[in-house]
Amino acid sequence: MRHPSTRMAPRRLLRMLIVLCAASAPLAAQPLSLEPPVKGALDRDYYLVNFPDRDSTTGIRDFACGWYTYDGHQGTDFVLKDFTRMDSGVTVLAAAPGTVTHITDGLFDRSKAINSGQFGNYISVRHSDGSIAFYAHLRKGSMLVAEQQAVVAGQPLALIGSSGNSTDPHLHFELRKSGVTMDPWMGACGAVASLWKQQPAYSTVRETMDAGLLAFEPTLDTLRERPPTVRRFSVSGTQVWFWAHTLSVHAGDTSSVVWRNPSGAVHRVERYVHDTNYRYSWWWFSMPLPASLPEGAWKAEYSINGQLQRVEPFEIGEPPLSAEHRDAALPRALVELYPSPARAGQPLSIRVAGNDGARLRLRLFDALGMQRLNTHTEADGTLVLRALPLPAGFYVLVADRAGEIVARSGLLLLD
Ligand SMILES: [Zn+2]
Repeated sequence: MRHPSTRMAPRRLLRMLIVLCAASAPLAAQPLSLEPPVKGALDRDYYLVNFPDRDSTTGIRDFACGWYTYDGHQGTDFVLKDFTRMDSGVTVLAAAPGTVTHITDGLFDRSKAINSGQFGNYISVRHSDGSIAFYAHLRKGSMLVAEQQAVVAGQPLALIGSSGNSTDPHLHFELRKSGVTMDPWMGACGAVASLWKQQPAYSTVRETMDAGLLAFEPTLDTLRERPPTVRRFSVSGTQVWFWAHTLSVHAGDTSSVVWRNPSGAVHRVERYVHDTNYRYSWWWFSMPLPASLPEGAWKAEYSINGQLQRVEPFEIGEPPLSAEHRDAALPRALVELYPSPARAGQPLSIRVAGNDGARLRLRLFDALGMQRLNTHTEADGTLVLRALPLPAGFYVLVADRAGEIVARSGLLLLD
């Protein structure tokens, strides 16, 4: 995907689609009392994204007469927010007691696309009433039970994966009896009685599952892997990218990102009016980094319909010590430090020769190349720091005169 223009428009992800065959069917009365098939807490560790489709035409309708489904979907999707969460190992639990009737394992489990792989790795469990539960898209090699084994409700079966016809890590949980799909959800367009021991409330609340900042333009696959958030940017960089992973944005909703500068004033606002319903989607926005921007503590504030969802703080500062600075052959003897090693929180005096009567800029970089101090010497090239506000460690001190490096020295700071 590329920008349509220089104005950075938000991008979106396709709604999650896991295509499985067969038509929806009426519910038969069942004595099942299902427990949650995923370990952890709903809306924290996993999310309910797609329910069975109750519309037998090409339209869609979930048990609550809403749109949390797609055409022909026959199960319920318990979804993780990203592959990093999947890698941490999220356990699938038996929703009801029964006997394991079939296991498929060994299939690739990091699918991110619609494909012909159907259930992928899966387990089926037959209950005493003759119904069968399918636990689909499991992680390869994670099976904790064997065929013909009896299981109790709540028993760990395997780990969530993204095998088969799956775009994101999730459990597809499906019930069938005599070849007919059962919808366990009670609602105006669903079952007359719930098959869940405790059916969770149906929520239309707009939620933001996750958000972050990047120094590069993401792709959908990047975000599915949950890249680590970058907190420091320099004006020599191109842009700051903010992304949000949302649950339920409705057609007509407005997403906005407000970029606030270090004084708290609004620097830039991006708005996007959603044109489609999305149960599970990513959106991203960017802010250019021209040299004119003030350094300091910035914020990106993300809202849906004016409701604040996320605040992501970041810093804009000088770029890390560049390669040319590191490689420059400089006479180290020009910098005198006292005492050396120095002590955190204690005075340090610095003298740089060769200043020719001009004040020198002094910068201190930490071992990661990040600037930690930016100050100037007196006209005689000296500076006394009364207390270094830095943790113990190794630093590089760089002195320059109008941008031209005149001296460089290592500085060891002890506790
Ligand atoms: Zn599904």
